[in-house]
Amino acid sequence: MRFDGRMDDELREIEIRIGYLDNADGSAYYRQGNTVVVAGVYGPRLLHPKHLQDPKKAILRVQYDMLTFSVPERKKPGPTRRSIELSKVIRKALESVIMLEEFPRSVIDVYIRVLNADAGTRCASINAAILALADAGIPMKSLISAVAAGKVGQRIVLDLTKMEEDYGKFVPENDYYGPGTATDIPIAYNPLDDEIVLLQMDGEIEKEDFLKAMELGIKGCKEIYQDMRKAIKKKYKVVSIEENQG
Ligand code: ADP
Repeated sequence: MRFDGRMDDELREIEIRIGYLDNADGSAYYRQGNTVVVAGVYGPRLLHPKHLQDPKKAILRVQYDMLTFSVPERKKPGPTRRSIELSKVIRKALESVIMLEEFPRSVIDVYIRVLNADAGTRCASINAAILALADAGIPMKSLISAVAAGKVGQRIVLDLTKMEEDYGKFVPENDYYGPGTATDIPIAYNPLDDEIVLLQMDGEIEKEDFLKAMELGIKGCKEIYQDMRKAIKKKYKVVSIEENQG
């Protein structure tokens, strides 16, 4: 079995809390194993200054950041090249489903903070952000969900931990995974259109293994999508009971 006792095709435990923050228009807490992310959404609201407005659609702004205490070695506060790049790829994935044309001249702000990082933070961020956007009532064509799959040693696995990402480099090889290092492939998926909206890769992999990892990643995304739907439905149920009582 894997370092944390999972099967190769098994996701880490997922915890979702929608409306986690009192003061944002929409928010979500998303935990996948030891990776913990919070997202807060503001908007849509009129964009100032005016020259930044798009008369045809809303502008989406995404800010991803890891908190100082989210990684073993204190991270210097503030944006880095990595966080700027991740903010951009996360924004691109979210833009593929948000109906921005419904809100001309407006802005939607998505703030994502990683509280604890154990790999897979860009995928957890997409999941947290899409749940926060849904909580804010932003119209979307579909939910999207994200997870990484890849190859650790000789095994194709779903949802890598940091220890697996470091296999063969900082973590010694063992019999279960076999010889080699790790390759990590984050995937975000739109199940409605059967469309991949984010695909990246860290490492090297043969085509056959890549296709296997993709298949596993999409299976993982579909499972997370179901968890997200359940969490949204649960929240709506609570709201409607409260309203009826009121
Ligand atoms: P992702 O978090 O999406 O997997 P990476 O492939 O860049 O993105 O993985 C980086 C992982 O390395 C993080 O999830 C985290 O667990 C770990 N890490 C440790 N220290 C740092 C650091 N200073 N900056 C970024 N990541 C770090």
